[in-house]
Amino acid sequence: MKKYDFIIAGGGMAGLSLAYHLTHSPLKDRSILIIDKEIKNKNDRTWCFWERGNGPFESILFRTWNTVDFFGTTLSGPLNIGDYQYKMLRGIDFYEYVQAHLAKFPNVERRQGTINRLKDTPDGAFLIVDDEPVMANYVFDSTYALNLTKPERHNLLQHFKGWVITTEKPCFDVNHPRIMDFRVAQEGDCRFLYVLPFDEKTAMVEYTIFNDHLLEAADYEAALRTYIATHLDAGAYQISETEFGVIPMSDEPAPENPAEHIVRIGTSGGYTKPSTGYTFQRTQRYLRELVDLLAATGRPERRKSWFTKPFKGWLDSVLLNVLQNNRHPADDIFTHLYQRNPPEDILRFLDEDTSFWEDIRIMNSVPIAPFIAGAIDVMRKKIF
Ligand SMILES: Cc1cc2nc3c(=O)[nH]c(=O)nc-3n(C[C@H](O)[C@H](O)[C@H](O)COP(=O)(O)OP(=O)(O)OC[C@H]3O[C@@H](n4cnc5c(N)ncnc54)[C@H](O)[C@@H]3O)c2cc1C
Repeated sequence: MKKYDFIIAGGGMAGLSLAYHLTHSPLKDRSILIIDKEIKNKNDRTWCFWERGNGPFESILFRTWNTVDFFGTTLSGPLNIGDYQYKMLRGIDFYEYVQAHLAKFPNVERRQGTINRLKDTPDGAFLIVDDEPVMANYVFDSTYALNLTKPERHNLLQHFKGWVITTEKPCFDVNHPRIMDFRVAQEGDCRFLYVLPFDEKTAMVEYTIFNDHLLEAADYEAALRTYIATHLDAGAYQISETEFGVIPMSDEPAPENPAEHIVRIGTSGGYTKPSTGYTFQRTQRYLRELVDLLAATGRPERRKSWFTKPFKGWLDSVLLNVLQNNRHPADDIFTHLYQRNPPEDILRFLDEDTSFWEDIRIMNSVPIAPFIAGAIDVMRKKIF
């Protein structure tokens, strides 16, 4: 049985990103096998994220914006995001770019197949792909399906349906994507629209919900139609692409190192920010840390701070608690955040780059009673 240095189980966003970062590190000559059941030749998703300066995928970004529009309860209009840019990367561009890069490395093999079993052994991790066993010193697994059901935790879903539409009339401002447009019925949870303009007549319009149950397909579509009719002077329009997704918004711990030679990455490793669902940038950051540590120590275990990480996790839990229990209208919470703080500070806060005192100041800007009730409930759940 062939033994690799590293096997990457799942060559989606996290798996391909890990291979990309490994090939830019002192470990670039190690033997690597990437296994995925799909060929990854479709534009199956689009990632949006914010970033300062240039990132590793700058040359393949589909669009970048220097400002974003917000529509909330008492604040509407452009947000000053300072020197951040809001960036959009199409799945297909990412898959093609990273796969072309990896093809230059003879030590990196790619294989299409279904992983049926993954097991830790004293000599490394072992997996079965379409009945054939393979081994590695370490397996990085992005195929593990999280089972987030613990009642004492907060388990919301971010679910969304988007259409790329081409309109009869020029109705999109190409410099102003709408990142949260709450001008839709809230139905007792949290609902908003994204509008990501490609040109004056083409944009991705996406209806997004944070709650604990999916809708019927017709309900997402009805909401999209109503929004386009009410808030875009589009005229007739054609739908050229659709996107549907569900992202966990959960504070249930997802162990990154479930066994000595197995490391979970991406969504499987709990890389999704619980209170926002954003995963792409956190994955790049976490994987860079992982690769640096692996190169320096030989062990792929990310170091966790004893205070910062639990404190930031606690803030996520409190926000999830407020949303899950409808303690205050979500549109008003996000409005308070963006209205009472420099918006770029909120982006830093969501990236977990703010200091303890900045976190306290930001938390002080949201409606206080529901957040105190949420904080007490989170403490109570932790203790009992
Ligand atoms: C439609 C959509 C849009 C999103 N948009 C954003 C966004 O704008 N910003 C953001 O930050 N996050 C976004 N996310 C969340 C997150 O960034 C993505 O889900 C991201 O793709 C997660 O990366 P991953 O590697 O963990 O999972 P994936 O990219 O899904 O990769 C997992 C891979 O494992 C393979 N696989 C699974 N099981 C097996 C098996 N048994 N054998 C072999 N292969 C297997 C799959 O084929 C897949 O390629 C979005 C998610 C979706 C679904």
